[in-house]
Amino acid sequence: MIDGFLHKGLRQKLVETIKMKGITNSLVIAAIGKIPRHYFVESYLESSAYEDRALPIGAGQTISQPYTVAYQTELLNVGKRAKVLEIGTGSGYQTAVLLEIGVQVFTIERQRELYMKTCAFLPNIGYNAQFFYGDGYEGKPTYGPFDGILITAGAPFIPEKLLLQLKIGGKFVAPIGNQDFQVMTVVERISDTEYKKTEHGNFVFVPMLKGTSK
Ligand code: SAH
Repeated sequence: MIDGFLHKGLRQKLVETIKMKGITNSLVIAAIGKIPRHYFVESYLESSAYEDRALPIGAGQTISQPYTVAYQTELLNVGKRAKVLEIGTGSGYQTAVLLEIGVQVFTIERQRELYMKTCAFLPNIGYNAQFFYGDGYEGKPTYGPFDGILITAGAPFIPEKLLLQLKIGGKFVAPIGNQDFQVMTVVERISDTEYKKTEHGNFVFVPMLKGTSK
């Protein structure tokens, strides 16, 4: 894998694009500027890797649009050394963005093929997370509570089990809705029993599914 001048140039343009679309968090911007997104897609898609759009990654799934990854990470708003649970490892690009900003990542994928591929690939390019094959609806209670929980697939409802795995002051960020579109939803845990929900625009993700797939 080569990260050449052309890739770096295109990546810089992508950074300008996400800034123009409203991303301001400097850690997030630096992460997008550093991570070679073309490593995360098949070689036939390499020329599209720095366009601001989702791309297929196999098993009917997609690597999210860079702007969306940046936006979700900005909404999560976690500092260095925070503990983050990610649901939907997919290509591992969002995982890499979280690791770049200095957080500890626990990531769950339900598609065995993607799980196997990404947990071999990411450490190879220097990104170390804790990878799990399983159903994200269950979360990872034994590793929690978390400062942040991020779902990178469209969930039909807010999974209660996940909210219970948030620290007080922690944030849950997920697109919630039907197959056609989802509303980017943030839930902050205010106390043991209180939560505050805010909504942040419409997006389209692949669906969050129940159970695991071989
Ligand atoms: N963050 C990924 C996005 C991948 S698309 C990236 O940057 O590439 C969403 C992913 O969520 C898919 O890989 C899909 O298999 C996974 N997914 C869907 N439902 C899930 C669930 N219940 N638990 C874990 N992963 C799930």
